[in-house]
Amino acid sequence: MDRFVVWLHSFNMELKCAVQTYSWGKYGMNSIVASLIKSANADFVVDDEKTYAELWMGTHENGPSYLKDTNIPLQRYIQENIETIGSDVAEMFGFNLSFLFKVLSINKALSIQVHPDKKKAEELHELYPDVYKDPNHKPELAIALCPFEALCGFRPIDEIKDYLNNIPELFAVIGEIDVCLLSQATDSTISEALQQCFHNLMTCDSKEVIQQLRGLTDRLHNADNSYREWIKADLLERLHRDYPGDVGCFAIYLFNYVTLQPGEAIYIGPNVPHAYLSGDCIECMACSDNVIRAGLTPKPKDVRTLIEVLPFESHSVEKVQPSQEDAFTQVFCPPVSEFAVAKITLPPGRSSYSLKPRSSASILLIVTGKVKISFKIFSRGSVLFIPANDEVEMKILCNCHPMLMFQAFSNV
Ligand SMILES: [Zn+2]
Repeated sequence: MDRFVVWLHSFNMELKCAVQTYSWGKYGMNSIVASLIKSANADFVVDDEKTYAELWMGTHENGPSYLKDTNIPLQRYIQENIETIGSDVAEMFGFNLSFLFKVLSINKALSIQVHPDKKKAEELHELYPDVYKDPNHKPELAIALCPFEALCGFRPIDEIKDYLNNIPELFAVIGEIDVCLLSQATDSTISEALQQCFHNLMTCDSKEVIQQLRGLTDRLHNADNSYREWIKADLLERLHRDYPGDVGCFAIYLFNYVTLQPGEAIYIGPNVPHAYLSGDCIECMACSDNVIRAGLTPKPKDVRTLIEVLPFESHSVEKVQPSQEDAFTQVFCPPVSEFAVAKITLPPGRSSYSLKPRSSASILLIVTGKVKISFKIFSRGSVLFIPANDEVEMKILCNCHPMLMFQAFSNV
């Protein structure tokens, strides 16, 4: 009987997911978001003039998923079939997914942002429900699908000091930072110096910022290659082209610049300033959309709240080391209960694979490959909802290429 129930679930579980067309996304079929959706839905019309920024897989109200065959919202399905969510998740988070799973395809930088911790998110939601729409925190994990660039957390203080001393235009907008504070370099003096730098930059007169950015980019035209490399001229020019005069262009000298190769990941905890700059990635987060913005955006910046929540700690970025679950599966586990992501890579030549049952409901995305599950065929772009403890047997139909899948589940 149990097997029969499992079979019924798996048969019906393909999802139809929401696309977000934010202006920073890649255009048309250049976007992996568009190409995944098109591959799974032949009727989907891709517009080359349109940006396809994010694919949302989950139950968030700003972009909920539906069961493809019946058009029932996934959230309603879960609430009518509460055993699908898993007992541990139900106890911790109620009868809903604890995560939001995404694919991002980035043409130009996203805003520099911070996601508040849970306590602050509750406070902000209570005070400004129109801006901070839910009371949840939003830690997030990004796994690169191609070479990927991001800013993440404050740089080590010596790097910032070096930039301040050698870029007069940066010095002009940030001003004198107490050198004694910097040279003593205890945790509290570093924190004070960072706060001073950030506050001065964010509150600098916008005309001055525009003028200094123009001066800097003009000067870099004639600079020699080693200086251009040190100052990250290509990145600065790209950001300035996309966001002319935006104070966020200077942020590359305060925040760590990180590059990821395919399969590498970063975790962004609460209150850590960050910005994704370019590339495609898989992203997973707690189910929230709370963002405090600091630059590289025409949207409002909430500098006062930012200064309140930022911890002003400075260190270099550590990539997330996945654990090897079996020969084909790496699991990226962040230090939160809401989510973990498995990356499953099957080498060519296999004829079948059984997906490890998870104690929570999960969402599976097929990036490459073709499989049959319970008489139904799924391939690139297919998104499946898998109930907790479900055993999924896959027959691999096209085994001349490796197969790549990502599975998000609750980390309980
Ligand atoms: Zn973010």
